[in-house]
Amino acid sequence: MAGIWIIAEKKELAMELLTPGGQLDAAGGGRLTVVVPESEGDPADYIAAGADEVALLGRLSEEMSFSSWLPALAEEIKAADPAAVLLAATFRGRELAARLAARLETGLASNCLTLAAGPDGTLVMERLAYGGAALQRVAVTGRPVMATIPPRTFPPAATVPGREGTVRRLPPPPADSLRVLARKEKERSAQDIAAAKTVVCVGRGLEKREDLELARQLAAVLGGEIGCTRPISEELRWLPENLCIGLSGVQVKPELYLGLGVSGQIQHLTGLRGARLICAVNRDPHAPIFPAADLGIVGDLYEVTPILIAEIKKARGG
Ligand SMILES: Cc1cc2nc3c(=O)[nH]c(=O)nc-3n(C[C@H](O)[C@H](O)[C@H](O)COP(=O)(O)OP(=O)(O)OC[C@H]3O[C@@H](n4cnc5c(N)ncnc54)[C@H](O)[C@@H]3O)c2cc1C
Repeated sequence: MAGIWIIAEKKELAMELLTPGGQLDAAGGGRLTVVVPESEGDPADYIAAGADEVALLGRLSEEMSFSSWLPALAEEIKAADPAAVLLAATFRGRELAARLAARLETGLASNCLTLAAGPDGTLVMERLAYGGAALQRVAVTGRPVMATIPPRTFPPAATVPGREGTVRRLPPPPADSLRVLARKEKERSAQDIAAAKTVVCVGRGLEKREDLELARQLAAVLGGEIGCTRPISEELRWLPENLCIGLSGVQVKPELYLGLGVSGQIQHLTGLRGARLICAVNRDPHAPIFPAADLGIVGDLYEVTPILIAEIKKARGG
């Protein structure tokens, strides 16, 4: 597994990709190259986290997008001939990865959760299939092996101060055939549920938007954040999309996840794999969330939640 490239648009993504990248690199003894925009922090941080080389992408003009780097990166990768190229499975990363794989005439395994070199050196990756109901094991036969990895799949790489590496700068590419005409901020919550220790998650069991207040009160007494299922963010638009938990949303790793009126479909449960304690309130005793939960209350959330709030306040002396 000689030579690993990591391409990321954000520092935190690059630091996470350095964890599997470093493991593969250690197995093969090649060079570990990190490609990031020059605005994404001090190159020394990537070198301390295991990079042998940092290639900085110069600032792009307003009308250019991250994928404007495609021709330059394809040429760089062809010249370096790494064994594998890893990108984050973000909107930008997925687009760039697909287009790079096409240019390099190689295979791309998307949304990989694990990567490991087999005894014969073949890189084998695991990813969810059928909406999270099955785990698929895949290998790419072309070179380089290309893979995208969802954010927060791996922890940031450990840093070793004093490591040495090289830094170079790639000049901005010429304007490409795609022009960005305007950029608009998406509605986002400032909450970071991916990092929250406690998450109260609301599902379709909630009858009205105003009832979110009840869940917010419960989250407040628990010192946690509020999250939701996809219908709440995508169909009803009661909460921003970055609070949706699951396959197409955020992966959470709280100490406590508490679902209110959440049925527990596999696409949602996929986002809870890292939760330490899963609790659920649902009036349907056969709801699929119960077999996945550590603690379950069969009941109406409108009756149970006020009792929970009162009891938690009492237990905390408030
Ligand atoms: C490709 C794909 C990706 C997807 N990605 C995601 C994802 O990332 N995240 C996600 O969440 N979903 C995702 N989904 C959707 C997912 O399949 C489910 O439809 C969704 O999770 C269901 O949301 P829910 O539990 O809020 O609603 P429902 O399934 O409608 O469940 C509502 C639950 O509330 C209970 N309930 C009703 N009233 C009360 C009450 N008063 N008190 C207590 N309980 C009550 C009901 O018994 C029921 O179990 C995806 C689907 C697909 C096809």
